[in-house]
Order: sequence, then structure tokens, then C-alpha cells
Amino acid sequence: MPMEPMVIEVSTCIRTLRLKVKAESYPWLNAAAIQVNQVWNWGNATSAKAARPFAGAAKWLSGFDLDKLSAGAAEYFEYIGSETIQRVNAELATRRRQFKKTQLRWRVSRGAKRSLGWVPFKAAQLKRKGKSLRFTGKAFRVFEQDQLQGTKCKCGCFAQDSVGDWWLCVPVERSFAPCMPKNEEVGLDLGLKDTVATSDGEKLEAGRFYRDIEQKIARAQRRGHKRQAKRLHRTAARRRKDALQKFSTKIVDQYQRIFVGDVSSAKLIKTRMAKSVLDAGWGMLKTQLQYKGQQAGRRVLIVSERYTTRACSSCGSLSGPAGLAMLDVRIWVCSGCGDTHDRDVNAAKNILSAGRCPPSISGNESSPSGAPPSQASSRCEAGTSALAAAA
Ligand SMILES: [Zn+2]
Repeated sequence: MPMEPMVIEVSTCIRTLRLKVKAESYPWLNAAAIQVNQVWNWGNATSAKAARPFAGAAKWLSGFDLDKLSAGAAEYFEYIGSETIQRVNAELATRRRQFKKTQLRWRVSRGAKRSLGWVPFKAAQLKRKGKSLRFTGKAFRVFEQDQLQGTKCKCGCFAQDSVGDWWLCVPVERSFAPCMPKNEEVGLDLGLKDTVATSDGEKLEAGRFYRDIEQKIARAQRRGHKRQAKRLHRTAARRRKDALQKFSTKIVDQYQRIFVGDVSSAKLIKTRMAKSVLDAGWGMLKTQLQYKGQQAGRRVLIVSERYTTRACSSCGSLSGPAGLAMLDVRIWVCSGCGDTHDRDVNAAKNILSAGRCPPSISGNESSPSGAPPSQASSRCEAGTSALAAAA
């Protein structure tokens, strides 16, 4: 085979590996989680008191301050060590800064409002030993442990989901080689009946991920099988995420510039379409497109969705269906030019043409591939002016 002169640049990205912990360790982890909660609540109370003292100057405690104050506390805890305490302190300090709150929510260990278990650790604490892992002297077994082979991590955590199962979560570095896309650009319409339609006529079906399980969930709840219902909810969420992951990967592989309609899901949740909107997982899909696009050096742009459903993508006249009452209209014929349109594909085409000619906000976007990945996701309000130009 002849040598390829092309240099393939290999980049790395951080992915979180989630491995299910075998059930034999659940009691131990549940006990450790209670102690983590105690550390969290202590840190929460201490830093709130320091921020609003009875007398003297207020002080905003950092994670490091909390470490100093909690030094030596580890000997009073049976399950967790000083490294875990430090990780809890650091997390608490980060969240307080992020939300700009002197006091955060308490972590609850028992009862109906129990917080989902969480036990953070530093990498040095987690040791691999044959077929099991060791964490503060306790042996753990996880499913698919071979996935950890050859990975390096700085920190991680054990986390519990709503079903009560525990997962080992570690961020790991993965390398990948970016490939050139086949096509230049695409518009995506995030709809209600179909999750997404592309301007090339492709569709990803929404709702399926949840709706076919819905009856099973209702049956389980009627019978009082709470755990089973939660398990089914988890299955539905996982299926939906999986379908969206596959779709976003495909789009990022195929297209250099990706225009996504800017739908305000907050507005639609108030209407009777709430369930479909939540189903569709738009936020999830947008996030996936943005980070995958950034890694692959694509441009992902959010385009205003105004009039994209009503306007005809061939002639630009506003002859399409409008308003909530017309949501059932899937296929329509333009009164201006006589073209037959699929509602969602037509909207995707409009989003594409709106994205192609953005107004003066950022007028220097002529080169399709010249943009650095750092600018890969930006925003433009293009709806009306592009349509006016098309008309
Ligand atoms: Zn038309």
C-alpha cells in the first residue's frame, strides 16, 4: 500500500467511564455515603457560619480552608479517608462559588428525601488488584473491569442512581482522529412529533424511547412496584440517550457546518406538549452536537427558528401551518409555488438557509472550514432577514 502523505492529527478528549459495581459492595457503599453526607453537612454549616458570623469579619472559606479545619477527622470515620474528605470539601467550595450561595442544600441520609449516594475519591486511593479493585482496604468488583485497562485517572467517584444501584465513575482520556466530513452543511429542525429532521430529509423518531415503556411503568406503579418503575424509567432514559448519541455522532461525522433551530423548550413545556418536549431531549442533543462538533473541528450554530415552519423553503412565502392548533398538519402544499412540503424537513431547510446568510452580527463567516474549533459554537439571529432575502 502506498504511504499517505496526509498527516492525521490525533486529539484527546475526556470521557466519563461508568462501570456498574457488583451488588455485594452496596451495603458498604451505602454506609460510606452516609459518612460523606456528614462531612458535606459539616462543611456546609461551617462555611455558612464563617460567611455570616455573629461577630467579627465574614470569611468565605475555600476548600483548602475546610481541609485545614477538618485535618485529622478521618480517624473518626470508619469508611472514608482523608482524601475523600478533601474531595468533598473541594466539591462543596466549588459549588458554593458556582451558585454564589453561602449555604447549599443539606445531604440527607435517610427517609423519602434521601440524597443519592456519592463517594468521591482520589486516584491514588483506588488500586487495581487482579480481578478486583481496592478502595480504603475494601475489595470491589465491577462489571466490565477490563475497560479500565490502560487508563489513567486523577480522581473519580462512586455514585448511586435512583434505582439504588452503584456505579464507579472515572474520567478517562481517550484519543481519536478527526475525519473530514462528506457534506458541507445541514439544517436541523427539532420538532415535536419527530425529534429531529435534517434538511436532507432524514429523521430521528422521538417518543419511542419512553412511550412504549410508559404503559409498563403505569402498570408497575398501580401494583406498587416502585423499584421496578424506577428501573423502567432508567431504561427509557438510557435508550433515549443512546439514540441521541448515535444521531449526533452521525451528523458530526457527515457535515462541516451544522445549523440547529433555536427552540425555546421552556416556553413549550408550559403548553400541553410538555411530555413530547421532555421526551425529545433537545437540550441533550444540542449539548452533544456542540461538544462533538468542537472536538471534530465543526461549526455548530444556533439559528433563530422564527417563521421556519410557516415559510415555504422553495419560494419563501408564509403559507405554511401556524400556531398550536395547526401542529397536526404534517404535510402541506404551498399556495405560492405549489410545492408539497413535509413540515419538519421544510423547517430544517429554512434553518439551513437562515444559517447560510447570517445578518451583520458576524459578517465574516464566508469560509466554511476556516473557523478554529474554539469558535465552533456561536449564536446568530438569522430568521427574519434571511427569509426576507429569500422572498
Ligand atoms: Zn412556495
